[in-house]
Amino acid sequence: MQQQSLTKIFAVFGDPIGHSLSPVMHNAAFHALGMDCTYHAFRVSRKNLNIAILGAQAMGFGGLNLTIPLKEEALSSVSPKPMAASIGAVNTVSFDAEKGPVGNNTDGIGAKMALLDAGVDVAKKNVVIIGAGGAARAIAFQFAHDGANVHIANRTQARAVALADDVIVGLADTTSQSTVTITAGGLDDMQKFMETCDILVNSTSVGMHPNTDETPVPAQFLRSDMVIFDIVYNPRQTRLLLDGAAIRATTVGGLMMLIHQGAEAFRIWTGVEPPVDVMVEAVETELQRRSLL
Ligand code: NAP
Repeated sequence: MQQQSLTKIFAVFGDPIGHSLSPVMHNAAFHALGMDCTYHAFRVSRKNLNIAILGAQAMGFGGLNLTIPLKEEALSSVSPKPMAASIGAVNTVSFDAEKGPVGNNTDGIGAKMALLDAGVDVAKKNVVIIGAGGAARAIAFQFAHDGANVHIANRTQARAVALADDVIVGLADTTSQSTVTITAGGLDDMQKFMETCDILVNSTSVGMHPNTDETPVPAQFLRSDMVIFDIVYNPRQTRLLLDGAAIRATTVGGLMMLIHQGAEAFRIWTGVEPPVDVMVEAVETELQRRSLL
């Protein structure tokens, strides 16, 4: 008798999890490629993360995404890839027959790809990253690895300094770009770095719905020859992006980072090139449905 093949299951774990766009994005990709796979969201607490990851592995899941508040906690439940270990957070788990759960972080790649889509390569550029939280960490490590000079400006200055120190140590551990400059400070001394900034990245939650009138950088600091990248994707056009567009600067929103971090996870799990345009359309339709565009 021929054995029936089982649908491969993928999932995102988080708490809360109802807002996640990952199921819509990945299910659209699986459907478009005719793959017998399905992707679901599960509410998993920190306390249950380890057992949930092992359970998913035991049940033959194809792979996992992890979101707030599980990304840092996951490090002790997986074998992290070097970039995930440096960043100190895991957003993608793949299952290896020998190593078990393997932890990746695709947020930095997602940011890099979003800029490349807009024709912007970070190598040798002066990048100012506002923020020092989880997303800023992934972006700082990735961009420094790719040869950017990075200044990290954060409300809590000590957190920016700690991140810069981690990035410097991370670079010393790899053979990549040792000539880049990594600096850090608070928000007050940001202005002097803005004068030589090629690419500004907002990786704080400032400007996110419902506080859509807020911006992390006063409009007078922006220049028309600057690339302004806001990783906030809700709303699509943040106040920072609107201020940038008003002076004809190049602006890049956060939606493509979200798509590309998912696309990279898809590649890691399946080895298949994902249909990025299908994923974009699915997410845009869902955001429209939720009236967030
Ligand atoms: P997080 O770890 O909580 O970090 C939040 C950061 O924002 C910290 O640096 C914090 O500064 C800063 N911040 C918060 N409120 C602030 C305020 N009123 N003024 C100045 N700074 C403030 O969050 P995260 O995971 O990094 O996410 C940050 C944002 O990125 C969120 O909006 C998230 O939705 C978005 N995001 C987008 C993508 C994407 O794919 N597009 C991916 C990940 C995250 P302190 O250190 O001083 O608290």
